[in-house]
Amino acid sequence: MLTPTDAPPVSEKAYDPSEFNQYVMSTYGRFPIALKQGKGCLVWDTQDREYLDFVAGIATCTLGHAHPALVETVVQQISKLHHVSNLYYIPEQGALAQWLVEHSCADRAFFCNSGAEANEGAIKLARKYAHTVLQIEDPIILTAKASFHGRTLATITATGQAKYQKGFSPLVPGFAYVPYNDFEAVKEAIASLDTSERRVAAILLEPLQGEGGVRPGELEYFLRLRQLCDRTGILLILDEVQVGMGRTGKLWGYENLGIEPDIFTLAKGLAGGIPIGALLCKQFCDVFEPGNHASTFGGNPFACAAALTVCQTLEQERLIQNVQERGEQLRKGLRAIAAKYPQLIAEVRGWGLINGMELQAESPLTSIEIVKTAMEQGVLLVPAGPKVVRFVPPLIVSAEEVDRAVAEVDKAIASLA
Ligand SMILES: *Cc1c(COP(=O)(O)O)cnc(C)c1O
Repeated sequence: MLTPTDAPPVSEKAYDPSEFNQYVMSTYGRFPIALKQGKGCLVWDTQDREYLDFVAGIATCTLGHAHPALVETVVQQISKLHHVSNLYYIPEQGALAQWLVEHSCADRAFFCNSGAEANEGAIKLARKYAHTVLQIEDPIILTAKASFHGRTLATITATGQAKYQKGFSPLVPGFAYVPYNDFEAVKEAIASLDTSERRVAAILLEPLQGEGGVRPGELEYFLRLRQLCDRTGILLILDEVQVGMGRTGKLWGYENLGIEPDIFTLAKGLAGGIPIGALLCKQFCDVFEPGNHASTFGGNPFACAAALTVCQTLEQERLIQNVQERGEQLRKGLRAIAAKYPQLIAEVRGWGLINGMELQAESPLTSIEIVKTAMEQGVLLVPAGPKVVRFVPPLIVSAEEVDRAVAEVDKAIASLA
């Protein structure tokens, strides 16, 4: 049986970007390397250069690369049964749903394949709830400016950033935007949108804005939102696609905010890099009926077995405690760098192992320059907007690896300063 360490590499030579671009649509600005293998928090490119991976497939490879438990599960499951259909009961899906329900505030789960698809499901569920329970003819979903919810038409509309929407009009009706962490703005929006047919039915937010610059939600804001939703019947939906599954040092991002959502969505880290998405809700708003929503691949035995292994490994390896400790260590290291370059670095912030280093607005330095220089030094990082460098390593990252990443970032910034 092949194991990741003796698997043949995809290519012995460095990958030729022009050849690649001849066949693949140019939707991404790519860095000029191709990765061929990984182990733990390390990855190797086609020229055998080693990198410390603090991107983890953008907060996705929860257990790093080639984790023995995940390898074992996916090899076994694909040899046994990988896909059937939701025409039949799928025991692995039931077991995963049970684990998620028993470890969260939710009562029910629906499985799909990505974050955008999970959020689409949440939008549909909220609209159906609005029509059938709240009796709103024209329901509005409030979302935040600088948010990110995915790339389908409904989720780019939910995403409160013009750059993702430009060129794709007409957008989906039924959304309105408020600044994040501003409770008064929510109250004003609800009041101003209220007509006889039209009303706010749901508020969709990230517990911490990931793509929008690693901006944590404020406790007071979410507490007041929760009270407002309880009072008005408006649904509170949290997009946990990036922060769920232990990344914040708690299993769910909402645990940092002292509240429970009515609905939340998962994807990225849920199966550690095997595609899966999930929509979870409390029983009172579980208004889907047979035929209302579906997904061919959603919740297949392969993806669910992988996700269940990620869930069990989080517990067995006590990874959430590691996230708390390594997160503290990383922020301390990055803040020491920030203290050396106050003219370049404005702030280091985050929860657990989702952290951002924000550059001074006045400084000409951009996040992409730091990411490129760090890559040359052997550390993979990812921007979260033009002025924030994001650090989202696998949750298994060791103390030595955090020290090494900090040392290399220090060197990268010194060379740019
Ligand atoms: C990545 C992300 C999404 C989109 O997930 P996809 O799997 O790329 O569709 C949605 N919401 C948040 C918060 C994300 O970080």
